Amino acid sequence: MSGKEQISVTQDRTRLHMIDLIRKKRDGGTLDARELSFLVAGAADESIPLEQLAAWLMAAWLRGLSLDETRAMAMAMRDSGEKFDPHSLGKIAVDKHSTGGVGDKTSFLVAPLAAACGVAVPMISGRALGHTGGTLDKLEAIPGYRTALTLDEFEAVLKRCGASIVSQTPTLVPADRVLYALRDRTGTVENPGLICASILSKKLAAGLNALVLDVKTGSGAFLRKREDADYLAALMVATAESAGTHTAALMTDMSQPLGRTAGNWIEIAECVELMRGERDSGSEDVRELSLLLAGWMIHLGGKAATPEAGHQLAETALMDGSALGIFFKMVEAQGGAISVFDDLKGFHRPGASEVIAAWQSGYVAEMDTTALGWAVQRLGAGREKAGEPVDPHAGIEFHAKRGAHVEKGRPFATLYATNQEMLAEPAELIRNAVAIGDAPPETLPLVSGIFTRESAESFLATQVRL
Ligand code: URA
Repeated sequence: MSGKEQISVTQDRTRLHMIDLIRKKRDGGTLDARELSFLVAGAADESIPLEQLAAWLMAAWLRGLSLDETRAMAMAMRDSGEKFDPHSLGKIAVDKHSTGGVGDKTSFLVAPLAAACGVAVPMISGRALGHTGGTLDKLEAIPGYRTALTLDEFEAVLKRCGASIVSQTPTLVPADRVLYALRDRTGTVENPGLICASILSKKLAAGLNALVLDVKTGSGAFLRKREDADYLAALMVATAESAGTHTAALMTDMSQPLGRTAGNWIEIAECVELMRGERDSGSEDVRELSLLLAGWMIHLGGKAATPEAGHQLAETALMDGSALGIFFKMVEAQGGAISVFDDLKGFHRPGASEVIAAWQSGYVAEMDTTALGWAVQRLGAGREKAGEPVDPHAGIEFHAKRGAHVEKGRPFATLYATNQEMLAEPAELIRNAVAIGDAPPETLPLVSGIFTRESAESFLATQVRL
């Protein structure tokens, strides 16, 4: 940092200039909380020109953010708009956030499971992004389900049901709306500090007492390198804890799609089957991961002494129908037609479908899960550009998971598309994305690490990134 910029920022405490903040970050300096609040407020009210914000973002991407900067940025973004105050619910507010995956449908299970065990789950979710699916798009496959509730409506649903899954309102964290769109257009998304501030600002604006993070690792994860995923997880735990939100991060496997389905309606249907107590070998991973995540939510929410005891409570709520009751109640309260759950298969009406047969005999050895995610998107279940509609009935049902033995000619996956023409490219993507070998692959654990405040802080102390 040059002395000149420091003078212009520190000499006049009432006035800051964006050009000074750009130069400061460009030259490897550290911004203080006041400077970051100025930047974030200027993004939210659009008083700072986009080209200056873009230049600062690129400087931050290249130079990185310190722990203090990350925290200050998350707090300033959290405070940039309206916030939800869960106090009136009279319960501990707990949420789960996933870094995104393929077939990742745990929200539909953990929200009612944790609510059934006595915590409130105010869940503000997102839409399909790139190769990863979107919780809101999946819920909107239920006819009538409204994701865009006002904060008053959100509170009313939470009081009635204990859980509500909604979209971000236009006034909640407006700074992130501007900065995230700009990062998307300027190649500055993949920076741990910026990701952490963006994700946590939205979670903390929901007034959470506790948060469980599901940080994906493996071929379908947003951050492919294990060390990057660990760093992001520890950073998010330490930052959220410093803001007073009790947080844990589970490092979970995304080396294959989670569960049996990846798409929109078909994922909702898989979750309803699980909440009806039905078991299927293809759905065991999503069932167990949901119980583990819910167990941590219940534990951090003070309703179980340990995560293991929370897991047991969650399993009871899964098997005795109480989670399903809450899910149906939430769907109805948000305008959804629960009659569609009477016949899960009958409601599924894709424009076209095709069964892909295994192209050789052997063991499913490796899956390029990101490529499988793109196959799901190209079938019509995801979107190419923000704002495009998605097909509620598109997606893939997998008949074999990693490690399974398949016979040539036997069904490997069923594709559901909007029309016949949309089947060919995803079919090819699948054949290229899945390796069938002579020997079973190494078994990977569902959860390969956990960060809590203590372990996150000691991990960060060993890092030389900042
Ligand atoms: N999801 C977010 O909300 N923000 C990011 O920066 C990345 C993923």
